[in-house]
Amino acid sequence: MDNMFGFADELGPAKIIHVYEPAIGLKGILVIDNVARGPSIGGLRIAPDVSANECFRLARAMTLKNAAADLPHGGGKMVIYGDPKMPLQQKQQIVRAAADSLRNEEDYIFGPDMGTNEECMAWVRDEIGRSVGLPEELGGIPLDQLGATGWGLMHATEVALQHLDFDLTEARVAIQGFGSVGKHSARYLHDKGARIVAVNDSRGTVYNQQGLDIEALFELKKLGKSVADFSGGKTLERDAIIAIDCDIWIPAARPDVIHEGNVQQMRTKLIVQGANIPVTEGAEKYLYEHGVLCVPDFIANAGGVICAAMEYKGATEHAAMTTIAEKVAGNTRKVLEISANDGIQPREAAVKMATDRVKKAMALRRWSLFSTAPHFL
Ligand code: NAD
Repeated sequence: MDNMFGFADELGPAKIIHVYEPAIGLKGILVIDNVARGPSIGGLRIAPDVSANECFRLARAMTLKNAAADLPHGGGKMVIYGDPKMPLQQKQQIVRAAADSLRNEEDYIFGPDMGTNEECMAWVRDEIGRSVGLPEELGGIPLDQLGATGWGLMHATEVALQHLDFDLTEARVAIQGFGSVGKHSARYLHDKGARIVAVNDSRGTVYNQQGLDIEALFELKKLGKSVADFSGGKTLERDAIIAIDCDIWIPAARPDVIHEGNVQQMRTKLIVQGANIPVTEGAEKYLYEHGVLCVPDFIANAGGVICAAMEYKGATEHAAMTTIAEKVAGNTRKVLEISANDGIQPREAAVKMATDRVKKAMALRRWSLFSTAPHFL
């Protein structure tokens, strides 16, 4: 479609707002992609080098993720240009000024992202009352401490196994990354009877065919050590995790870790994507063609954003965890059914499901490309 931005299409973006306050060094951009399903939720990122185009792509990813999670929210993203490690006082001034400049932009709800955290969200809340991912003292639900995303991932895994010929209690699991997503995925899957045979972090891999002691690994990480320092398994180099013989492989570290150059090394039957875009398009196609089932990132790892949306509604921790389980399981089931019935990759099915939901909501708006009813004038 021809458009003024070079990247707009039938879904959005609805608005692009530049904010500039040279006196304190604030320079930022907000992209509100689509609000047909409700006000947009998306992270506030502080980074030196994000283009308007990239900000739009991140906002679009949130539109699809929120719709796929069936939340009453659209997608948006804000970037403030700067060093995320700037002095705290300066960061506070800039974040508060950014919030203030968007005081009336009620279609955007601030959330934490790279370079911002719960404290930053507290500053935004103090300025304009519109943020999620708050500290507990302000009614926040501590999603990383609870392992909200790992909890969702475990439910996605259980549903995916209905399409395969083995149970969780017989499964050998390898997990890349042992941070907030990886370690809680390990804990929840282990509690369900799975054997976690390998985990890694940025410094190395630890492997034990009999299964690793997850509690002991939690304790080790609390001491600031690497999983590769663990004595209850064999230490391997960091990327050895990719070729570990297992049944379930969970990426929970970085983008693009599985690509055309290493996908042939994988020896697994199921990949449940905890990290964002951990598998390149070409590698995901290869896996599909070779019978490896992949649950796409924005279906499997939606626990965090569901938790944030529940927090915004004032829900309890218990209600948030119950909703994550229901939504992630339900959406995984639906995506895998569409994929099986239509003979398409799960990612294509997930994008189709999310886009259809956005279009249906758009059809109910006053001006709509998708409405069959005459426009209200
Ligand atoms: P984190 O910083 O808590 O943990 C990251 C882990 O990955 C650490 O153990 C780190 O040592 C390890 N790591 C870094 N580089 C690595 C490498 N090259 N190889 C192996 N391990 C490496 O981060 P997190 O919150 O657990 O997030 C992990 C991923 O999941 C990110 O892509 C994030 O965007 C995505 N994600 C997180 C959430 C959430 O709720 N935290 C929700 C959705 C998606």
